[in-house]
Amino acid sequence: LKNRLKDNDLEKVYIGIGSNLEPDKNMAGGLSELYRLLTDHRCSSLYRTEPVGKTDQPDFFNAVVVGLTSLSPLKLLEKLHQIERRYGRDRTGQRWGPRTLDLDILLFGKRILNEQDLVVPHPEIKNRTFVLIPLTELEPGIMDPKSGRTFLSFLEQLPSGGVYRIGPCH
Ligand code: AMP
Repeated sequence: LKNRLKDNDLEKVYIGIGSNLEPDKNMAGGLSELYRLLTDHRCSSLYRTEPVGKTDQPDFFNAVVVGLTSLSPLKLLEKLHQIERRYGRDRTGQRWGPRTLDLDILLFGKRILNEQDLVVPHPEIKNRTFVLIPLTELEPGIMDPKSGRTFLSFLEQLPSGGVYRIGPCH
């Protein structure tokens, strides 16, 4: 019961999804699991994005999914970790390969959470065009509950490039 929100309130959550190993398979698998978790879900377009930081790796596929949940933030995080484990690892011989599916809680209603395992709004949203572009595509006027600024204003301050729309997200 404590894993559920009071009065079965539904909260609007934005989840970032990304993969750069067998991304077709892993994105499709991850998305279908997310859709089972959320009601009234919508997905942004699917984007191909050049890796930032460690650049000697394949391009990523990225998207943002929005939907309603009655799960608590920590229970939702636990579910996302389960999905990552199910779809995001590549079994090579005896060893688990690199993680190939990343799921991040970007926003959870207007909540500001600073727990050890969960920081919301996700602190990297405003630095990542590969998150800001699909996020503002879903909701152009969306605001950062922490700063009160629109995410579009963060996006406008970042260098453009490196994020290419592939098509609709299925
Ligand atoms: P990473 O491997 O970079 O995806 O980081 C995963 C870790 O980040 C997890 O163990 C989470 O506990 C932690 N974390 C903190 N805030 C968030 C968030 N908003 N969404 C997802 N994971 C988070």
